[in-house]
Amino acid sequence: MKLETKAVHWGDRRRKSAAFTPTATPIYASSSYLYDSMEQLDRVLGREEEGASYARYDNPTRAALEELVRELENGAGAVACSSGMAALNLAVTAALVDRPRRVLAAAALYGSTTNMLMTVFGAIGVETTFVDICDLAAVEAAVAKGKPGAIVMETVSNPLLRVGEMDRIAEIARAAGAVLIVDNTFATPLLVRPLELGAGIVIHSATKYLAGHGDVLGGVLVSDKDNFEPISALARTLGPVMSPFESFLTMRGIKTLPLRIERQCANACKVASWLASHSAVERVYFTGDPTHPDSAAIQRLFPKNLYGAMVSFELKDAGREEVFRFMDRLKMIVCGTSLGDVHTMALYPAIASHRELSPKRRHQLGIHDNLVRLSIGIEAADDIVSDLEQAFG
Ligand code: PLP
Repeated sequence: MKLETKAVHWGDRRRKSAAFTPTATPIYASSSYLYDSMEQLDRVLGREEEGASYARYDNPTRAALEELVRELENGAGAVACSSGMAALNLAVTAALVDRPRRVLAAAALYGSTTNMLMTVFGAIGVETTFVDICDLAAVEAAVAKGKPGAIVMETVSNPLLRVGEMDRIAEIARAAGAVLIVDNTFATPLLVRPLELGAGIVIHSATKYLAGHGDVLGGVLVSDKDNFEPISALARTLGPVMSPFESFLTMRGIKTLPLRIERQCANACKVASWLASHSAVERVYFTGDPTHPDSAAIQRLFPKNLYGAMVSFELKDAGREEVFRFMDRLKMIVCGTSLGDVHTMALYPAIASHRELSPKRRHQLGIHDNLVRLSIGIEAADDIVSDLEQAFG
């Protein structure tokens, strides 16, 4: 071979079979794969033999992550996606393939999810109606009236942290032939496993707790057996898949997920009770609060002492200007538009997660201009409290 040819081919593909196994899943940055014969490639492409063929269909790093999250969520199949929104889009599209093109959605959802349902699915004729997902009678009536093909909810709503009775909603959905799609980003499978409660599809923004370190954009979808065929077919055709590098980082992050969640939940309990007794705070929203309006559902669906690590609160006598001043004064807490990272983050929903909604709609949902959302990290709880204290001024 000439140098020009060697530069392209040497090194790669030298070792046919490894006599050793790496302890960490390598990043397989390869778009396609070689086999001993065309016969074998034909079998792999026809999915008669296990293997990777082409990056849009399968990738060993991504497959390892999918197997891991499928196992954590106790599902039948999983697809790791390029973002949480890509996973949601895939879930709703797949759910409606053989069902009525109507969606019933929780009124309180992440802003981009509401936006996707109204503007993207709305534009192709999918009608979405919204309901208070914590009002079971209202859900039942809306399902009977609207006969939706899919119901979309979050385990813990963003940012007011409401918790619907997912097991009962799953029963209503199944009886009506609709698939329940649950965004489990805030809870993680450590707290709640929606498929075990009767949901058909669960999705995560892996950008958040699963990856956990603020360095990934990704999503994961896990489904029960009945729903996986259209999901898998659509994913192979449309290719909304996670890159090998992001898959590697997400897998690496998940290894410490249980440790992080335990610490974050414990810290959140401390921060929430400190905030509740502070004179600068009007109101605290926290799933571990015994007076939480959905405490019956939380007690039934969540494990003891793990109530989540999100805490929202309203600043007393404050509007946008005062909230900006408070957030600008934070020294350690990161004012970023994400959550679920190892570091504590503060977010102002009115300009971030719920920016795409009109002020009127935000107000209707109870997302007022004095609301701040905290994602509690793994730092020493005292340091989180001290930073908040000095920022209150
Ligand atoms: N679901 C929830 C609850 C979220 O908070 C987000 C993003 O903030 C998403 C979905 C979308 O995830 P991604 O940004 O990874 O697309």
